[in-house]
Amino acid sequence: GSPVCECNTCFGGPDCSQFSPHCVADVESGDPLFLEPFWMQHAASSAVVIMGWHRMSYSYSDRSTISQELDKLIRKLHALVGNANTTGRFIVFGAGSTQLLNAAVHALSPHNSSEPAKVVATIPYYPAYKSQTEFFDSVHFHFEGDASMYMNSSTSNTTSTFIEFVTTPNNPDGKLSKAVLRGPNVKAIYDRAYYWPHFTPIPAPADDDLMLFTISKLTGHAGSRFGWALVKEKDVFEAMTTYMSRNTEGVSRDSQLRALKLLKVVMEGSGREIFEFSSKTMNDRWDQLNKTLSVSKHFSLQEITPQHCTFFQQVRTPSPAYAWLKCERKEDKDCPAVIRESGIIGRNGTLYGSNSSYVRLSLIKTQDDFDIMLHHLNKLVSKEK
Ligand code: PMP
Repeated sequence: GSPVCECNTCFGGPDCSQFSPHCVADVESGDPLFLEPFWMQHAASSAVVIMGWHRMSYSYSDRSTISQELDKLIRKLHALVGNANTTGRFIVFGAGSTQLLNAAVHALSPHNSSEPAKVVATIPYYPAYKSQTEFFDSVHFHFEGDASMYMNSSTSNTTSTFIEFVTTPNNPDGKLSKAVLRGPNVKAIYDRAYYWPHFTPIPAPADDDLMLFTISKLTGHAGSRFGWALVKEKDVFEAMTTYMSRNTEGVSRDSQLRALKLLKVVMEGSGREIFEFSSKTMNDRWDQLNKTLSVSKHFSLQEITPQHCTFFQQVRTPSPAYAWLKCERKEDKDCPAVIRESGIIGRNGTLYGSNSSYVRLSLIKTQDDFDIMLHHLNKLVSKEK
């Protein structure tokens, strides 16, 4: 049907101009709804219909070619965007990249050693690395916290295996990070969930041994639970594949079908439309946020540096998925509480291994969520005078 014009949740009155003072901006989660308008514009071409009798088999006896088609399309997409080198790489599908995080830790851990692999990440890091590794506690791997703790204790003179999670661009601060540990027994898992033109200039195709991607932050379909790993080493690929069959007997064919359909729409025409939409949306949001906070002495944002983007063939400013907001005043030690007071729900910096002078604000939710957050921030900053 035709879209109905409605005021957003915080506004009322005949022309939607009356702001409800109790309205709260919930920018806590990384729900990627900023892409919803793009899919509304492509409603028909992106629709999937599956007949009841269709694709009933387990993947091992399924004679359809959907997985191979998806594999090919993913390689084509990376070539088109120029964000990852897929040559000579294996692809492993996962139920989101969440499932692949532990599949990768499992595959990189030594299984013939008396000592568990040390799983580390640089602070601030995505909380699932800790929570998941600890939840799936094993004799083969153990979460050891901050990677920089091991930077100088030479990782080259020890028999311990290190597995370093590197998130680039980083969640929460958007930095294009690199691994900090070096040595023969150091392995890296490059989580590239946000390595798309939506969020960052693409300086060069990524070429790491183990890289993770997901449609969650590419197309915005977090609920479909579809991610993939690009894997260089055959033995790592095989260990991850075994993990997938023990764990879930592969990824839902329905999810694969949906991912296939969505990626086909992404690559329609010149394959630029979604990236133009997403980068414009995210750039506008970052500009507005930056403008609001640039006059503040109490709050600051992470610094970002422009870089050449091979996809847009120009120098671009990053447009991060999250604001990593810092409360600058000593009395504002509990930054989440300070902004909560002003009607904004963010995520405490402590969750990322950092401290509560930081709070993460999601910039990838709906336009309403963003506008309400900005409204509250403007009020908060104007009170400083
Ligand atoms: N890695 C990072 C850095 C993320 O931010 C997220 C989602 N918030 C994920 C992995 C997991 O994404 P999914 O399981 O939806 O693919």
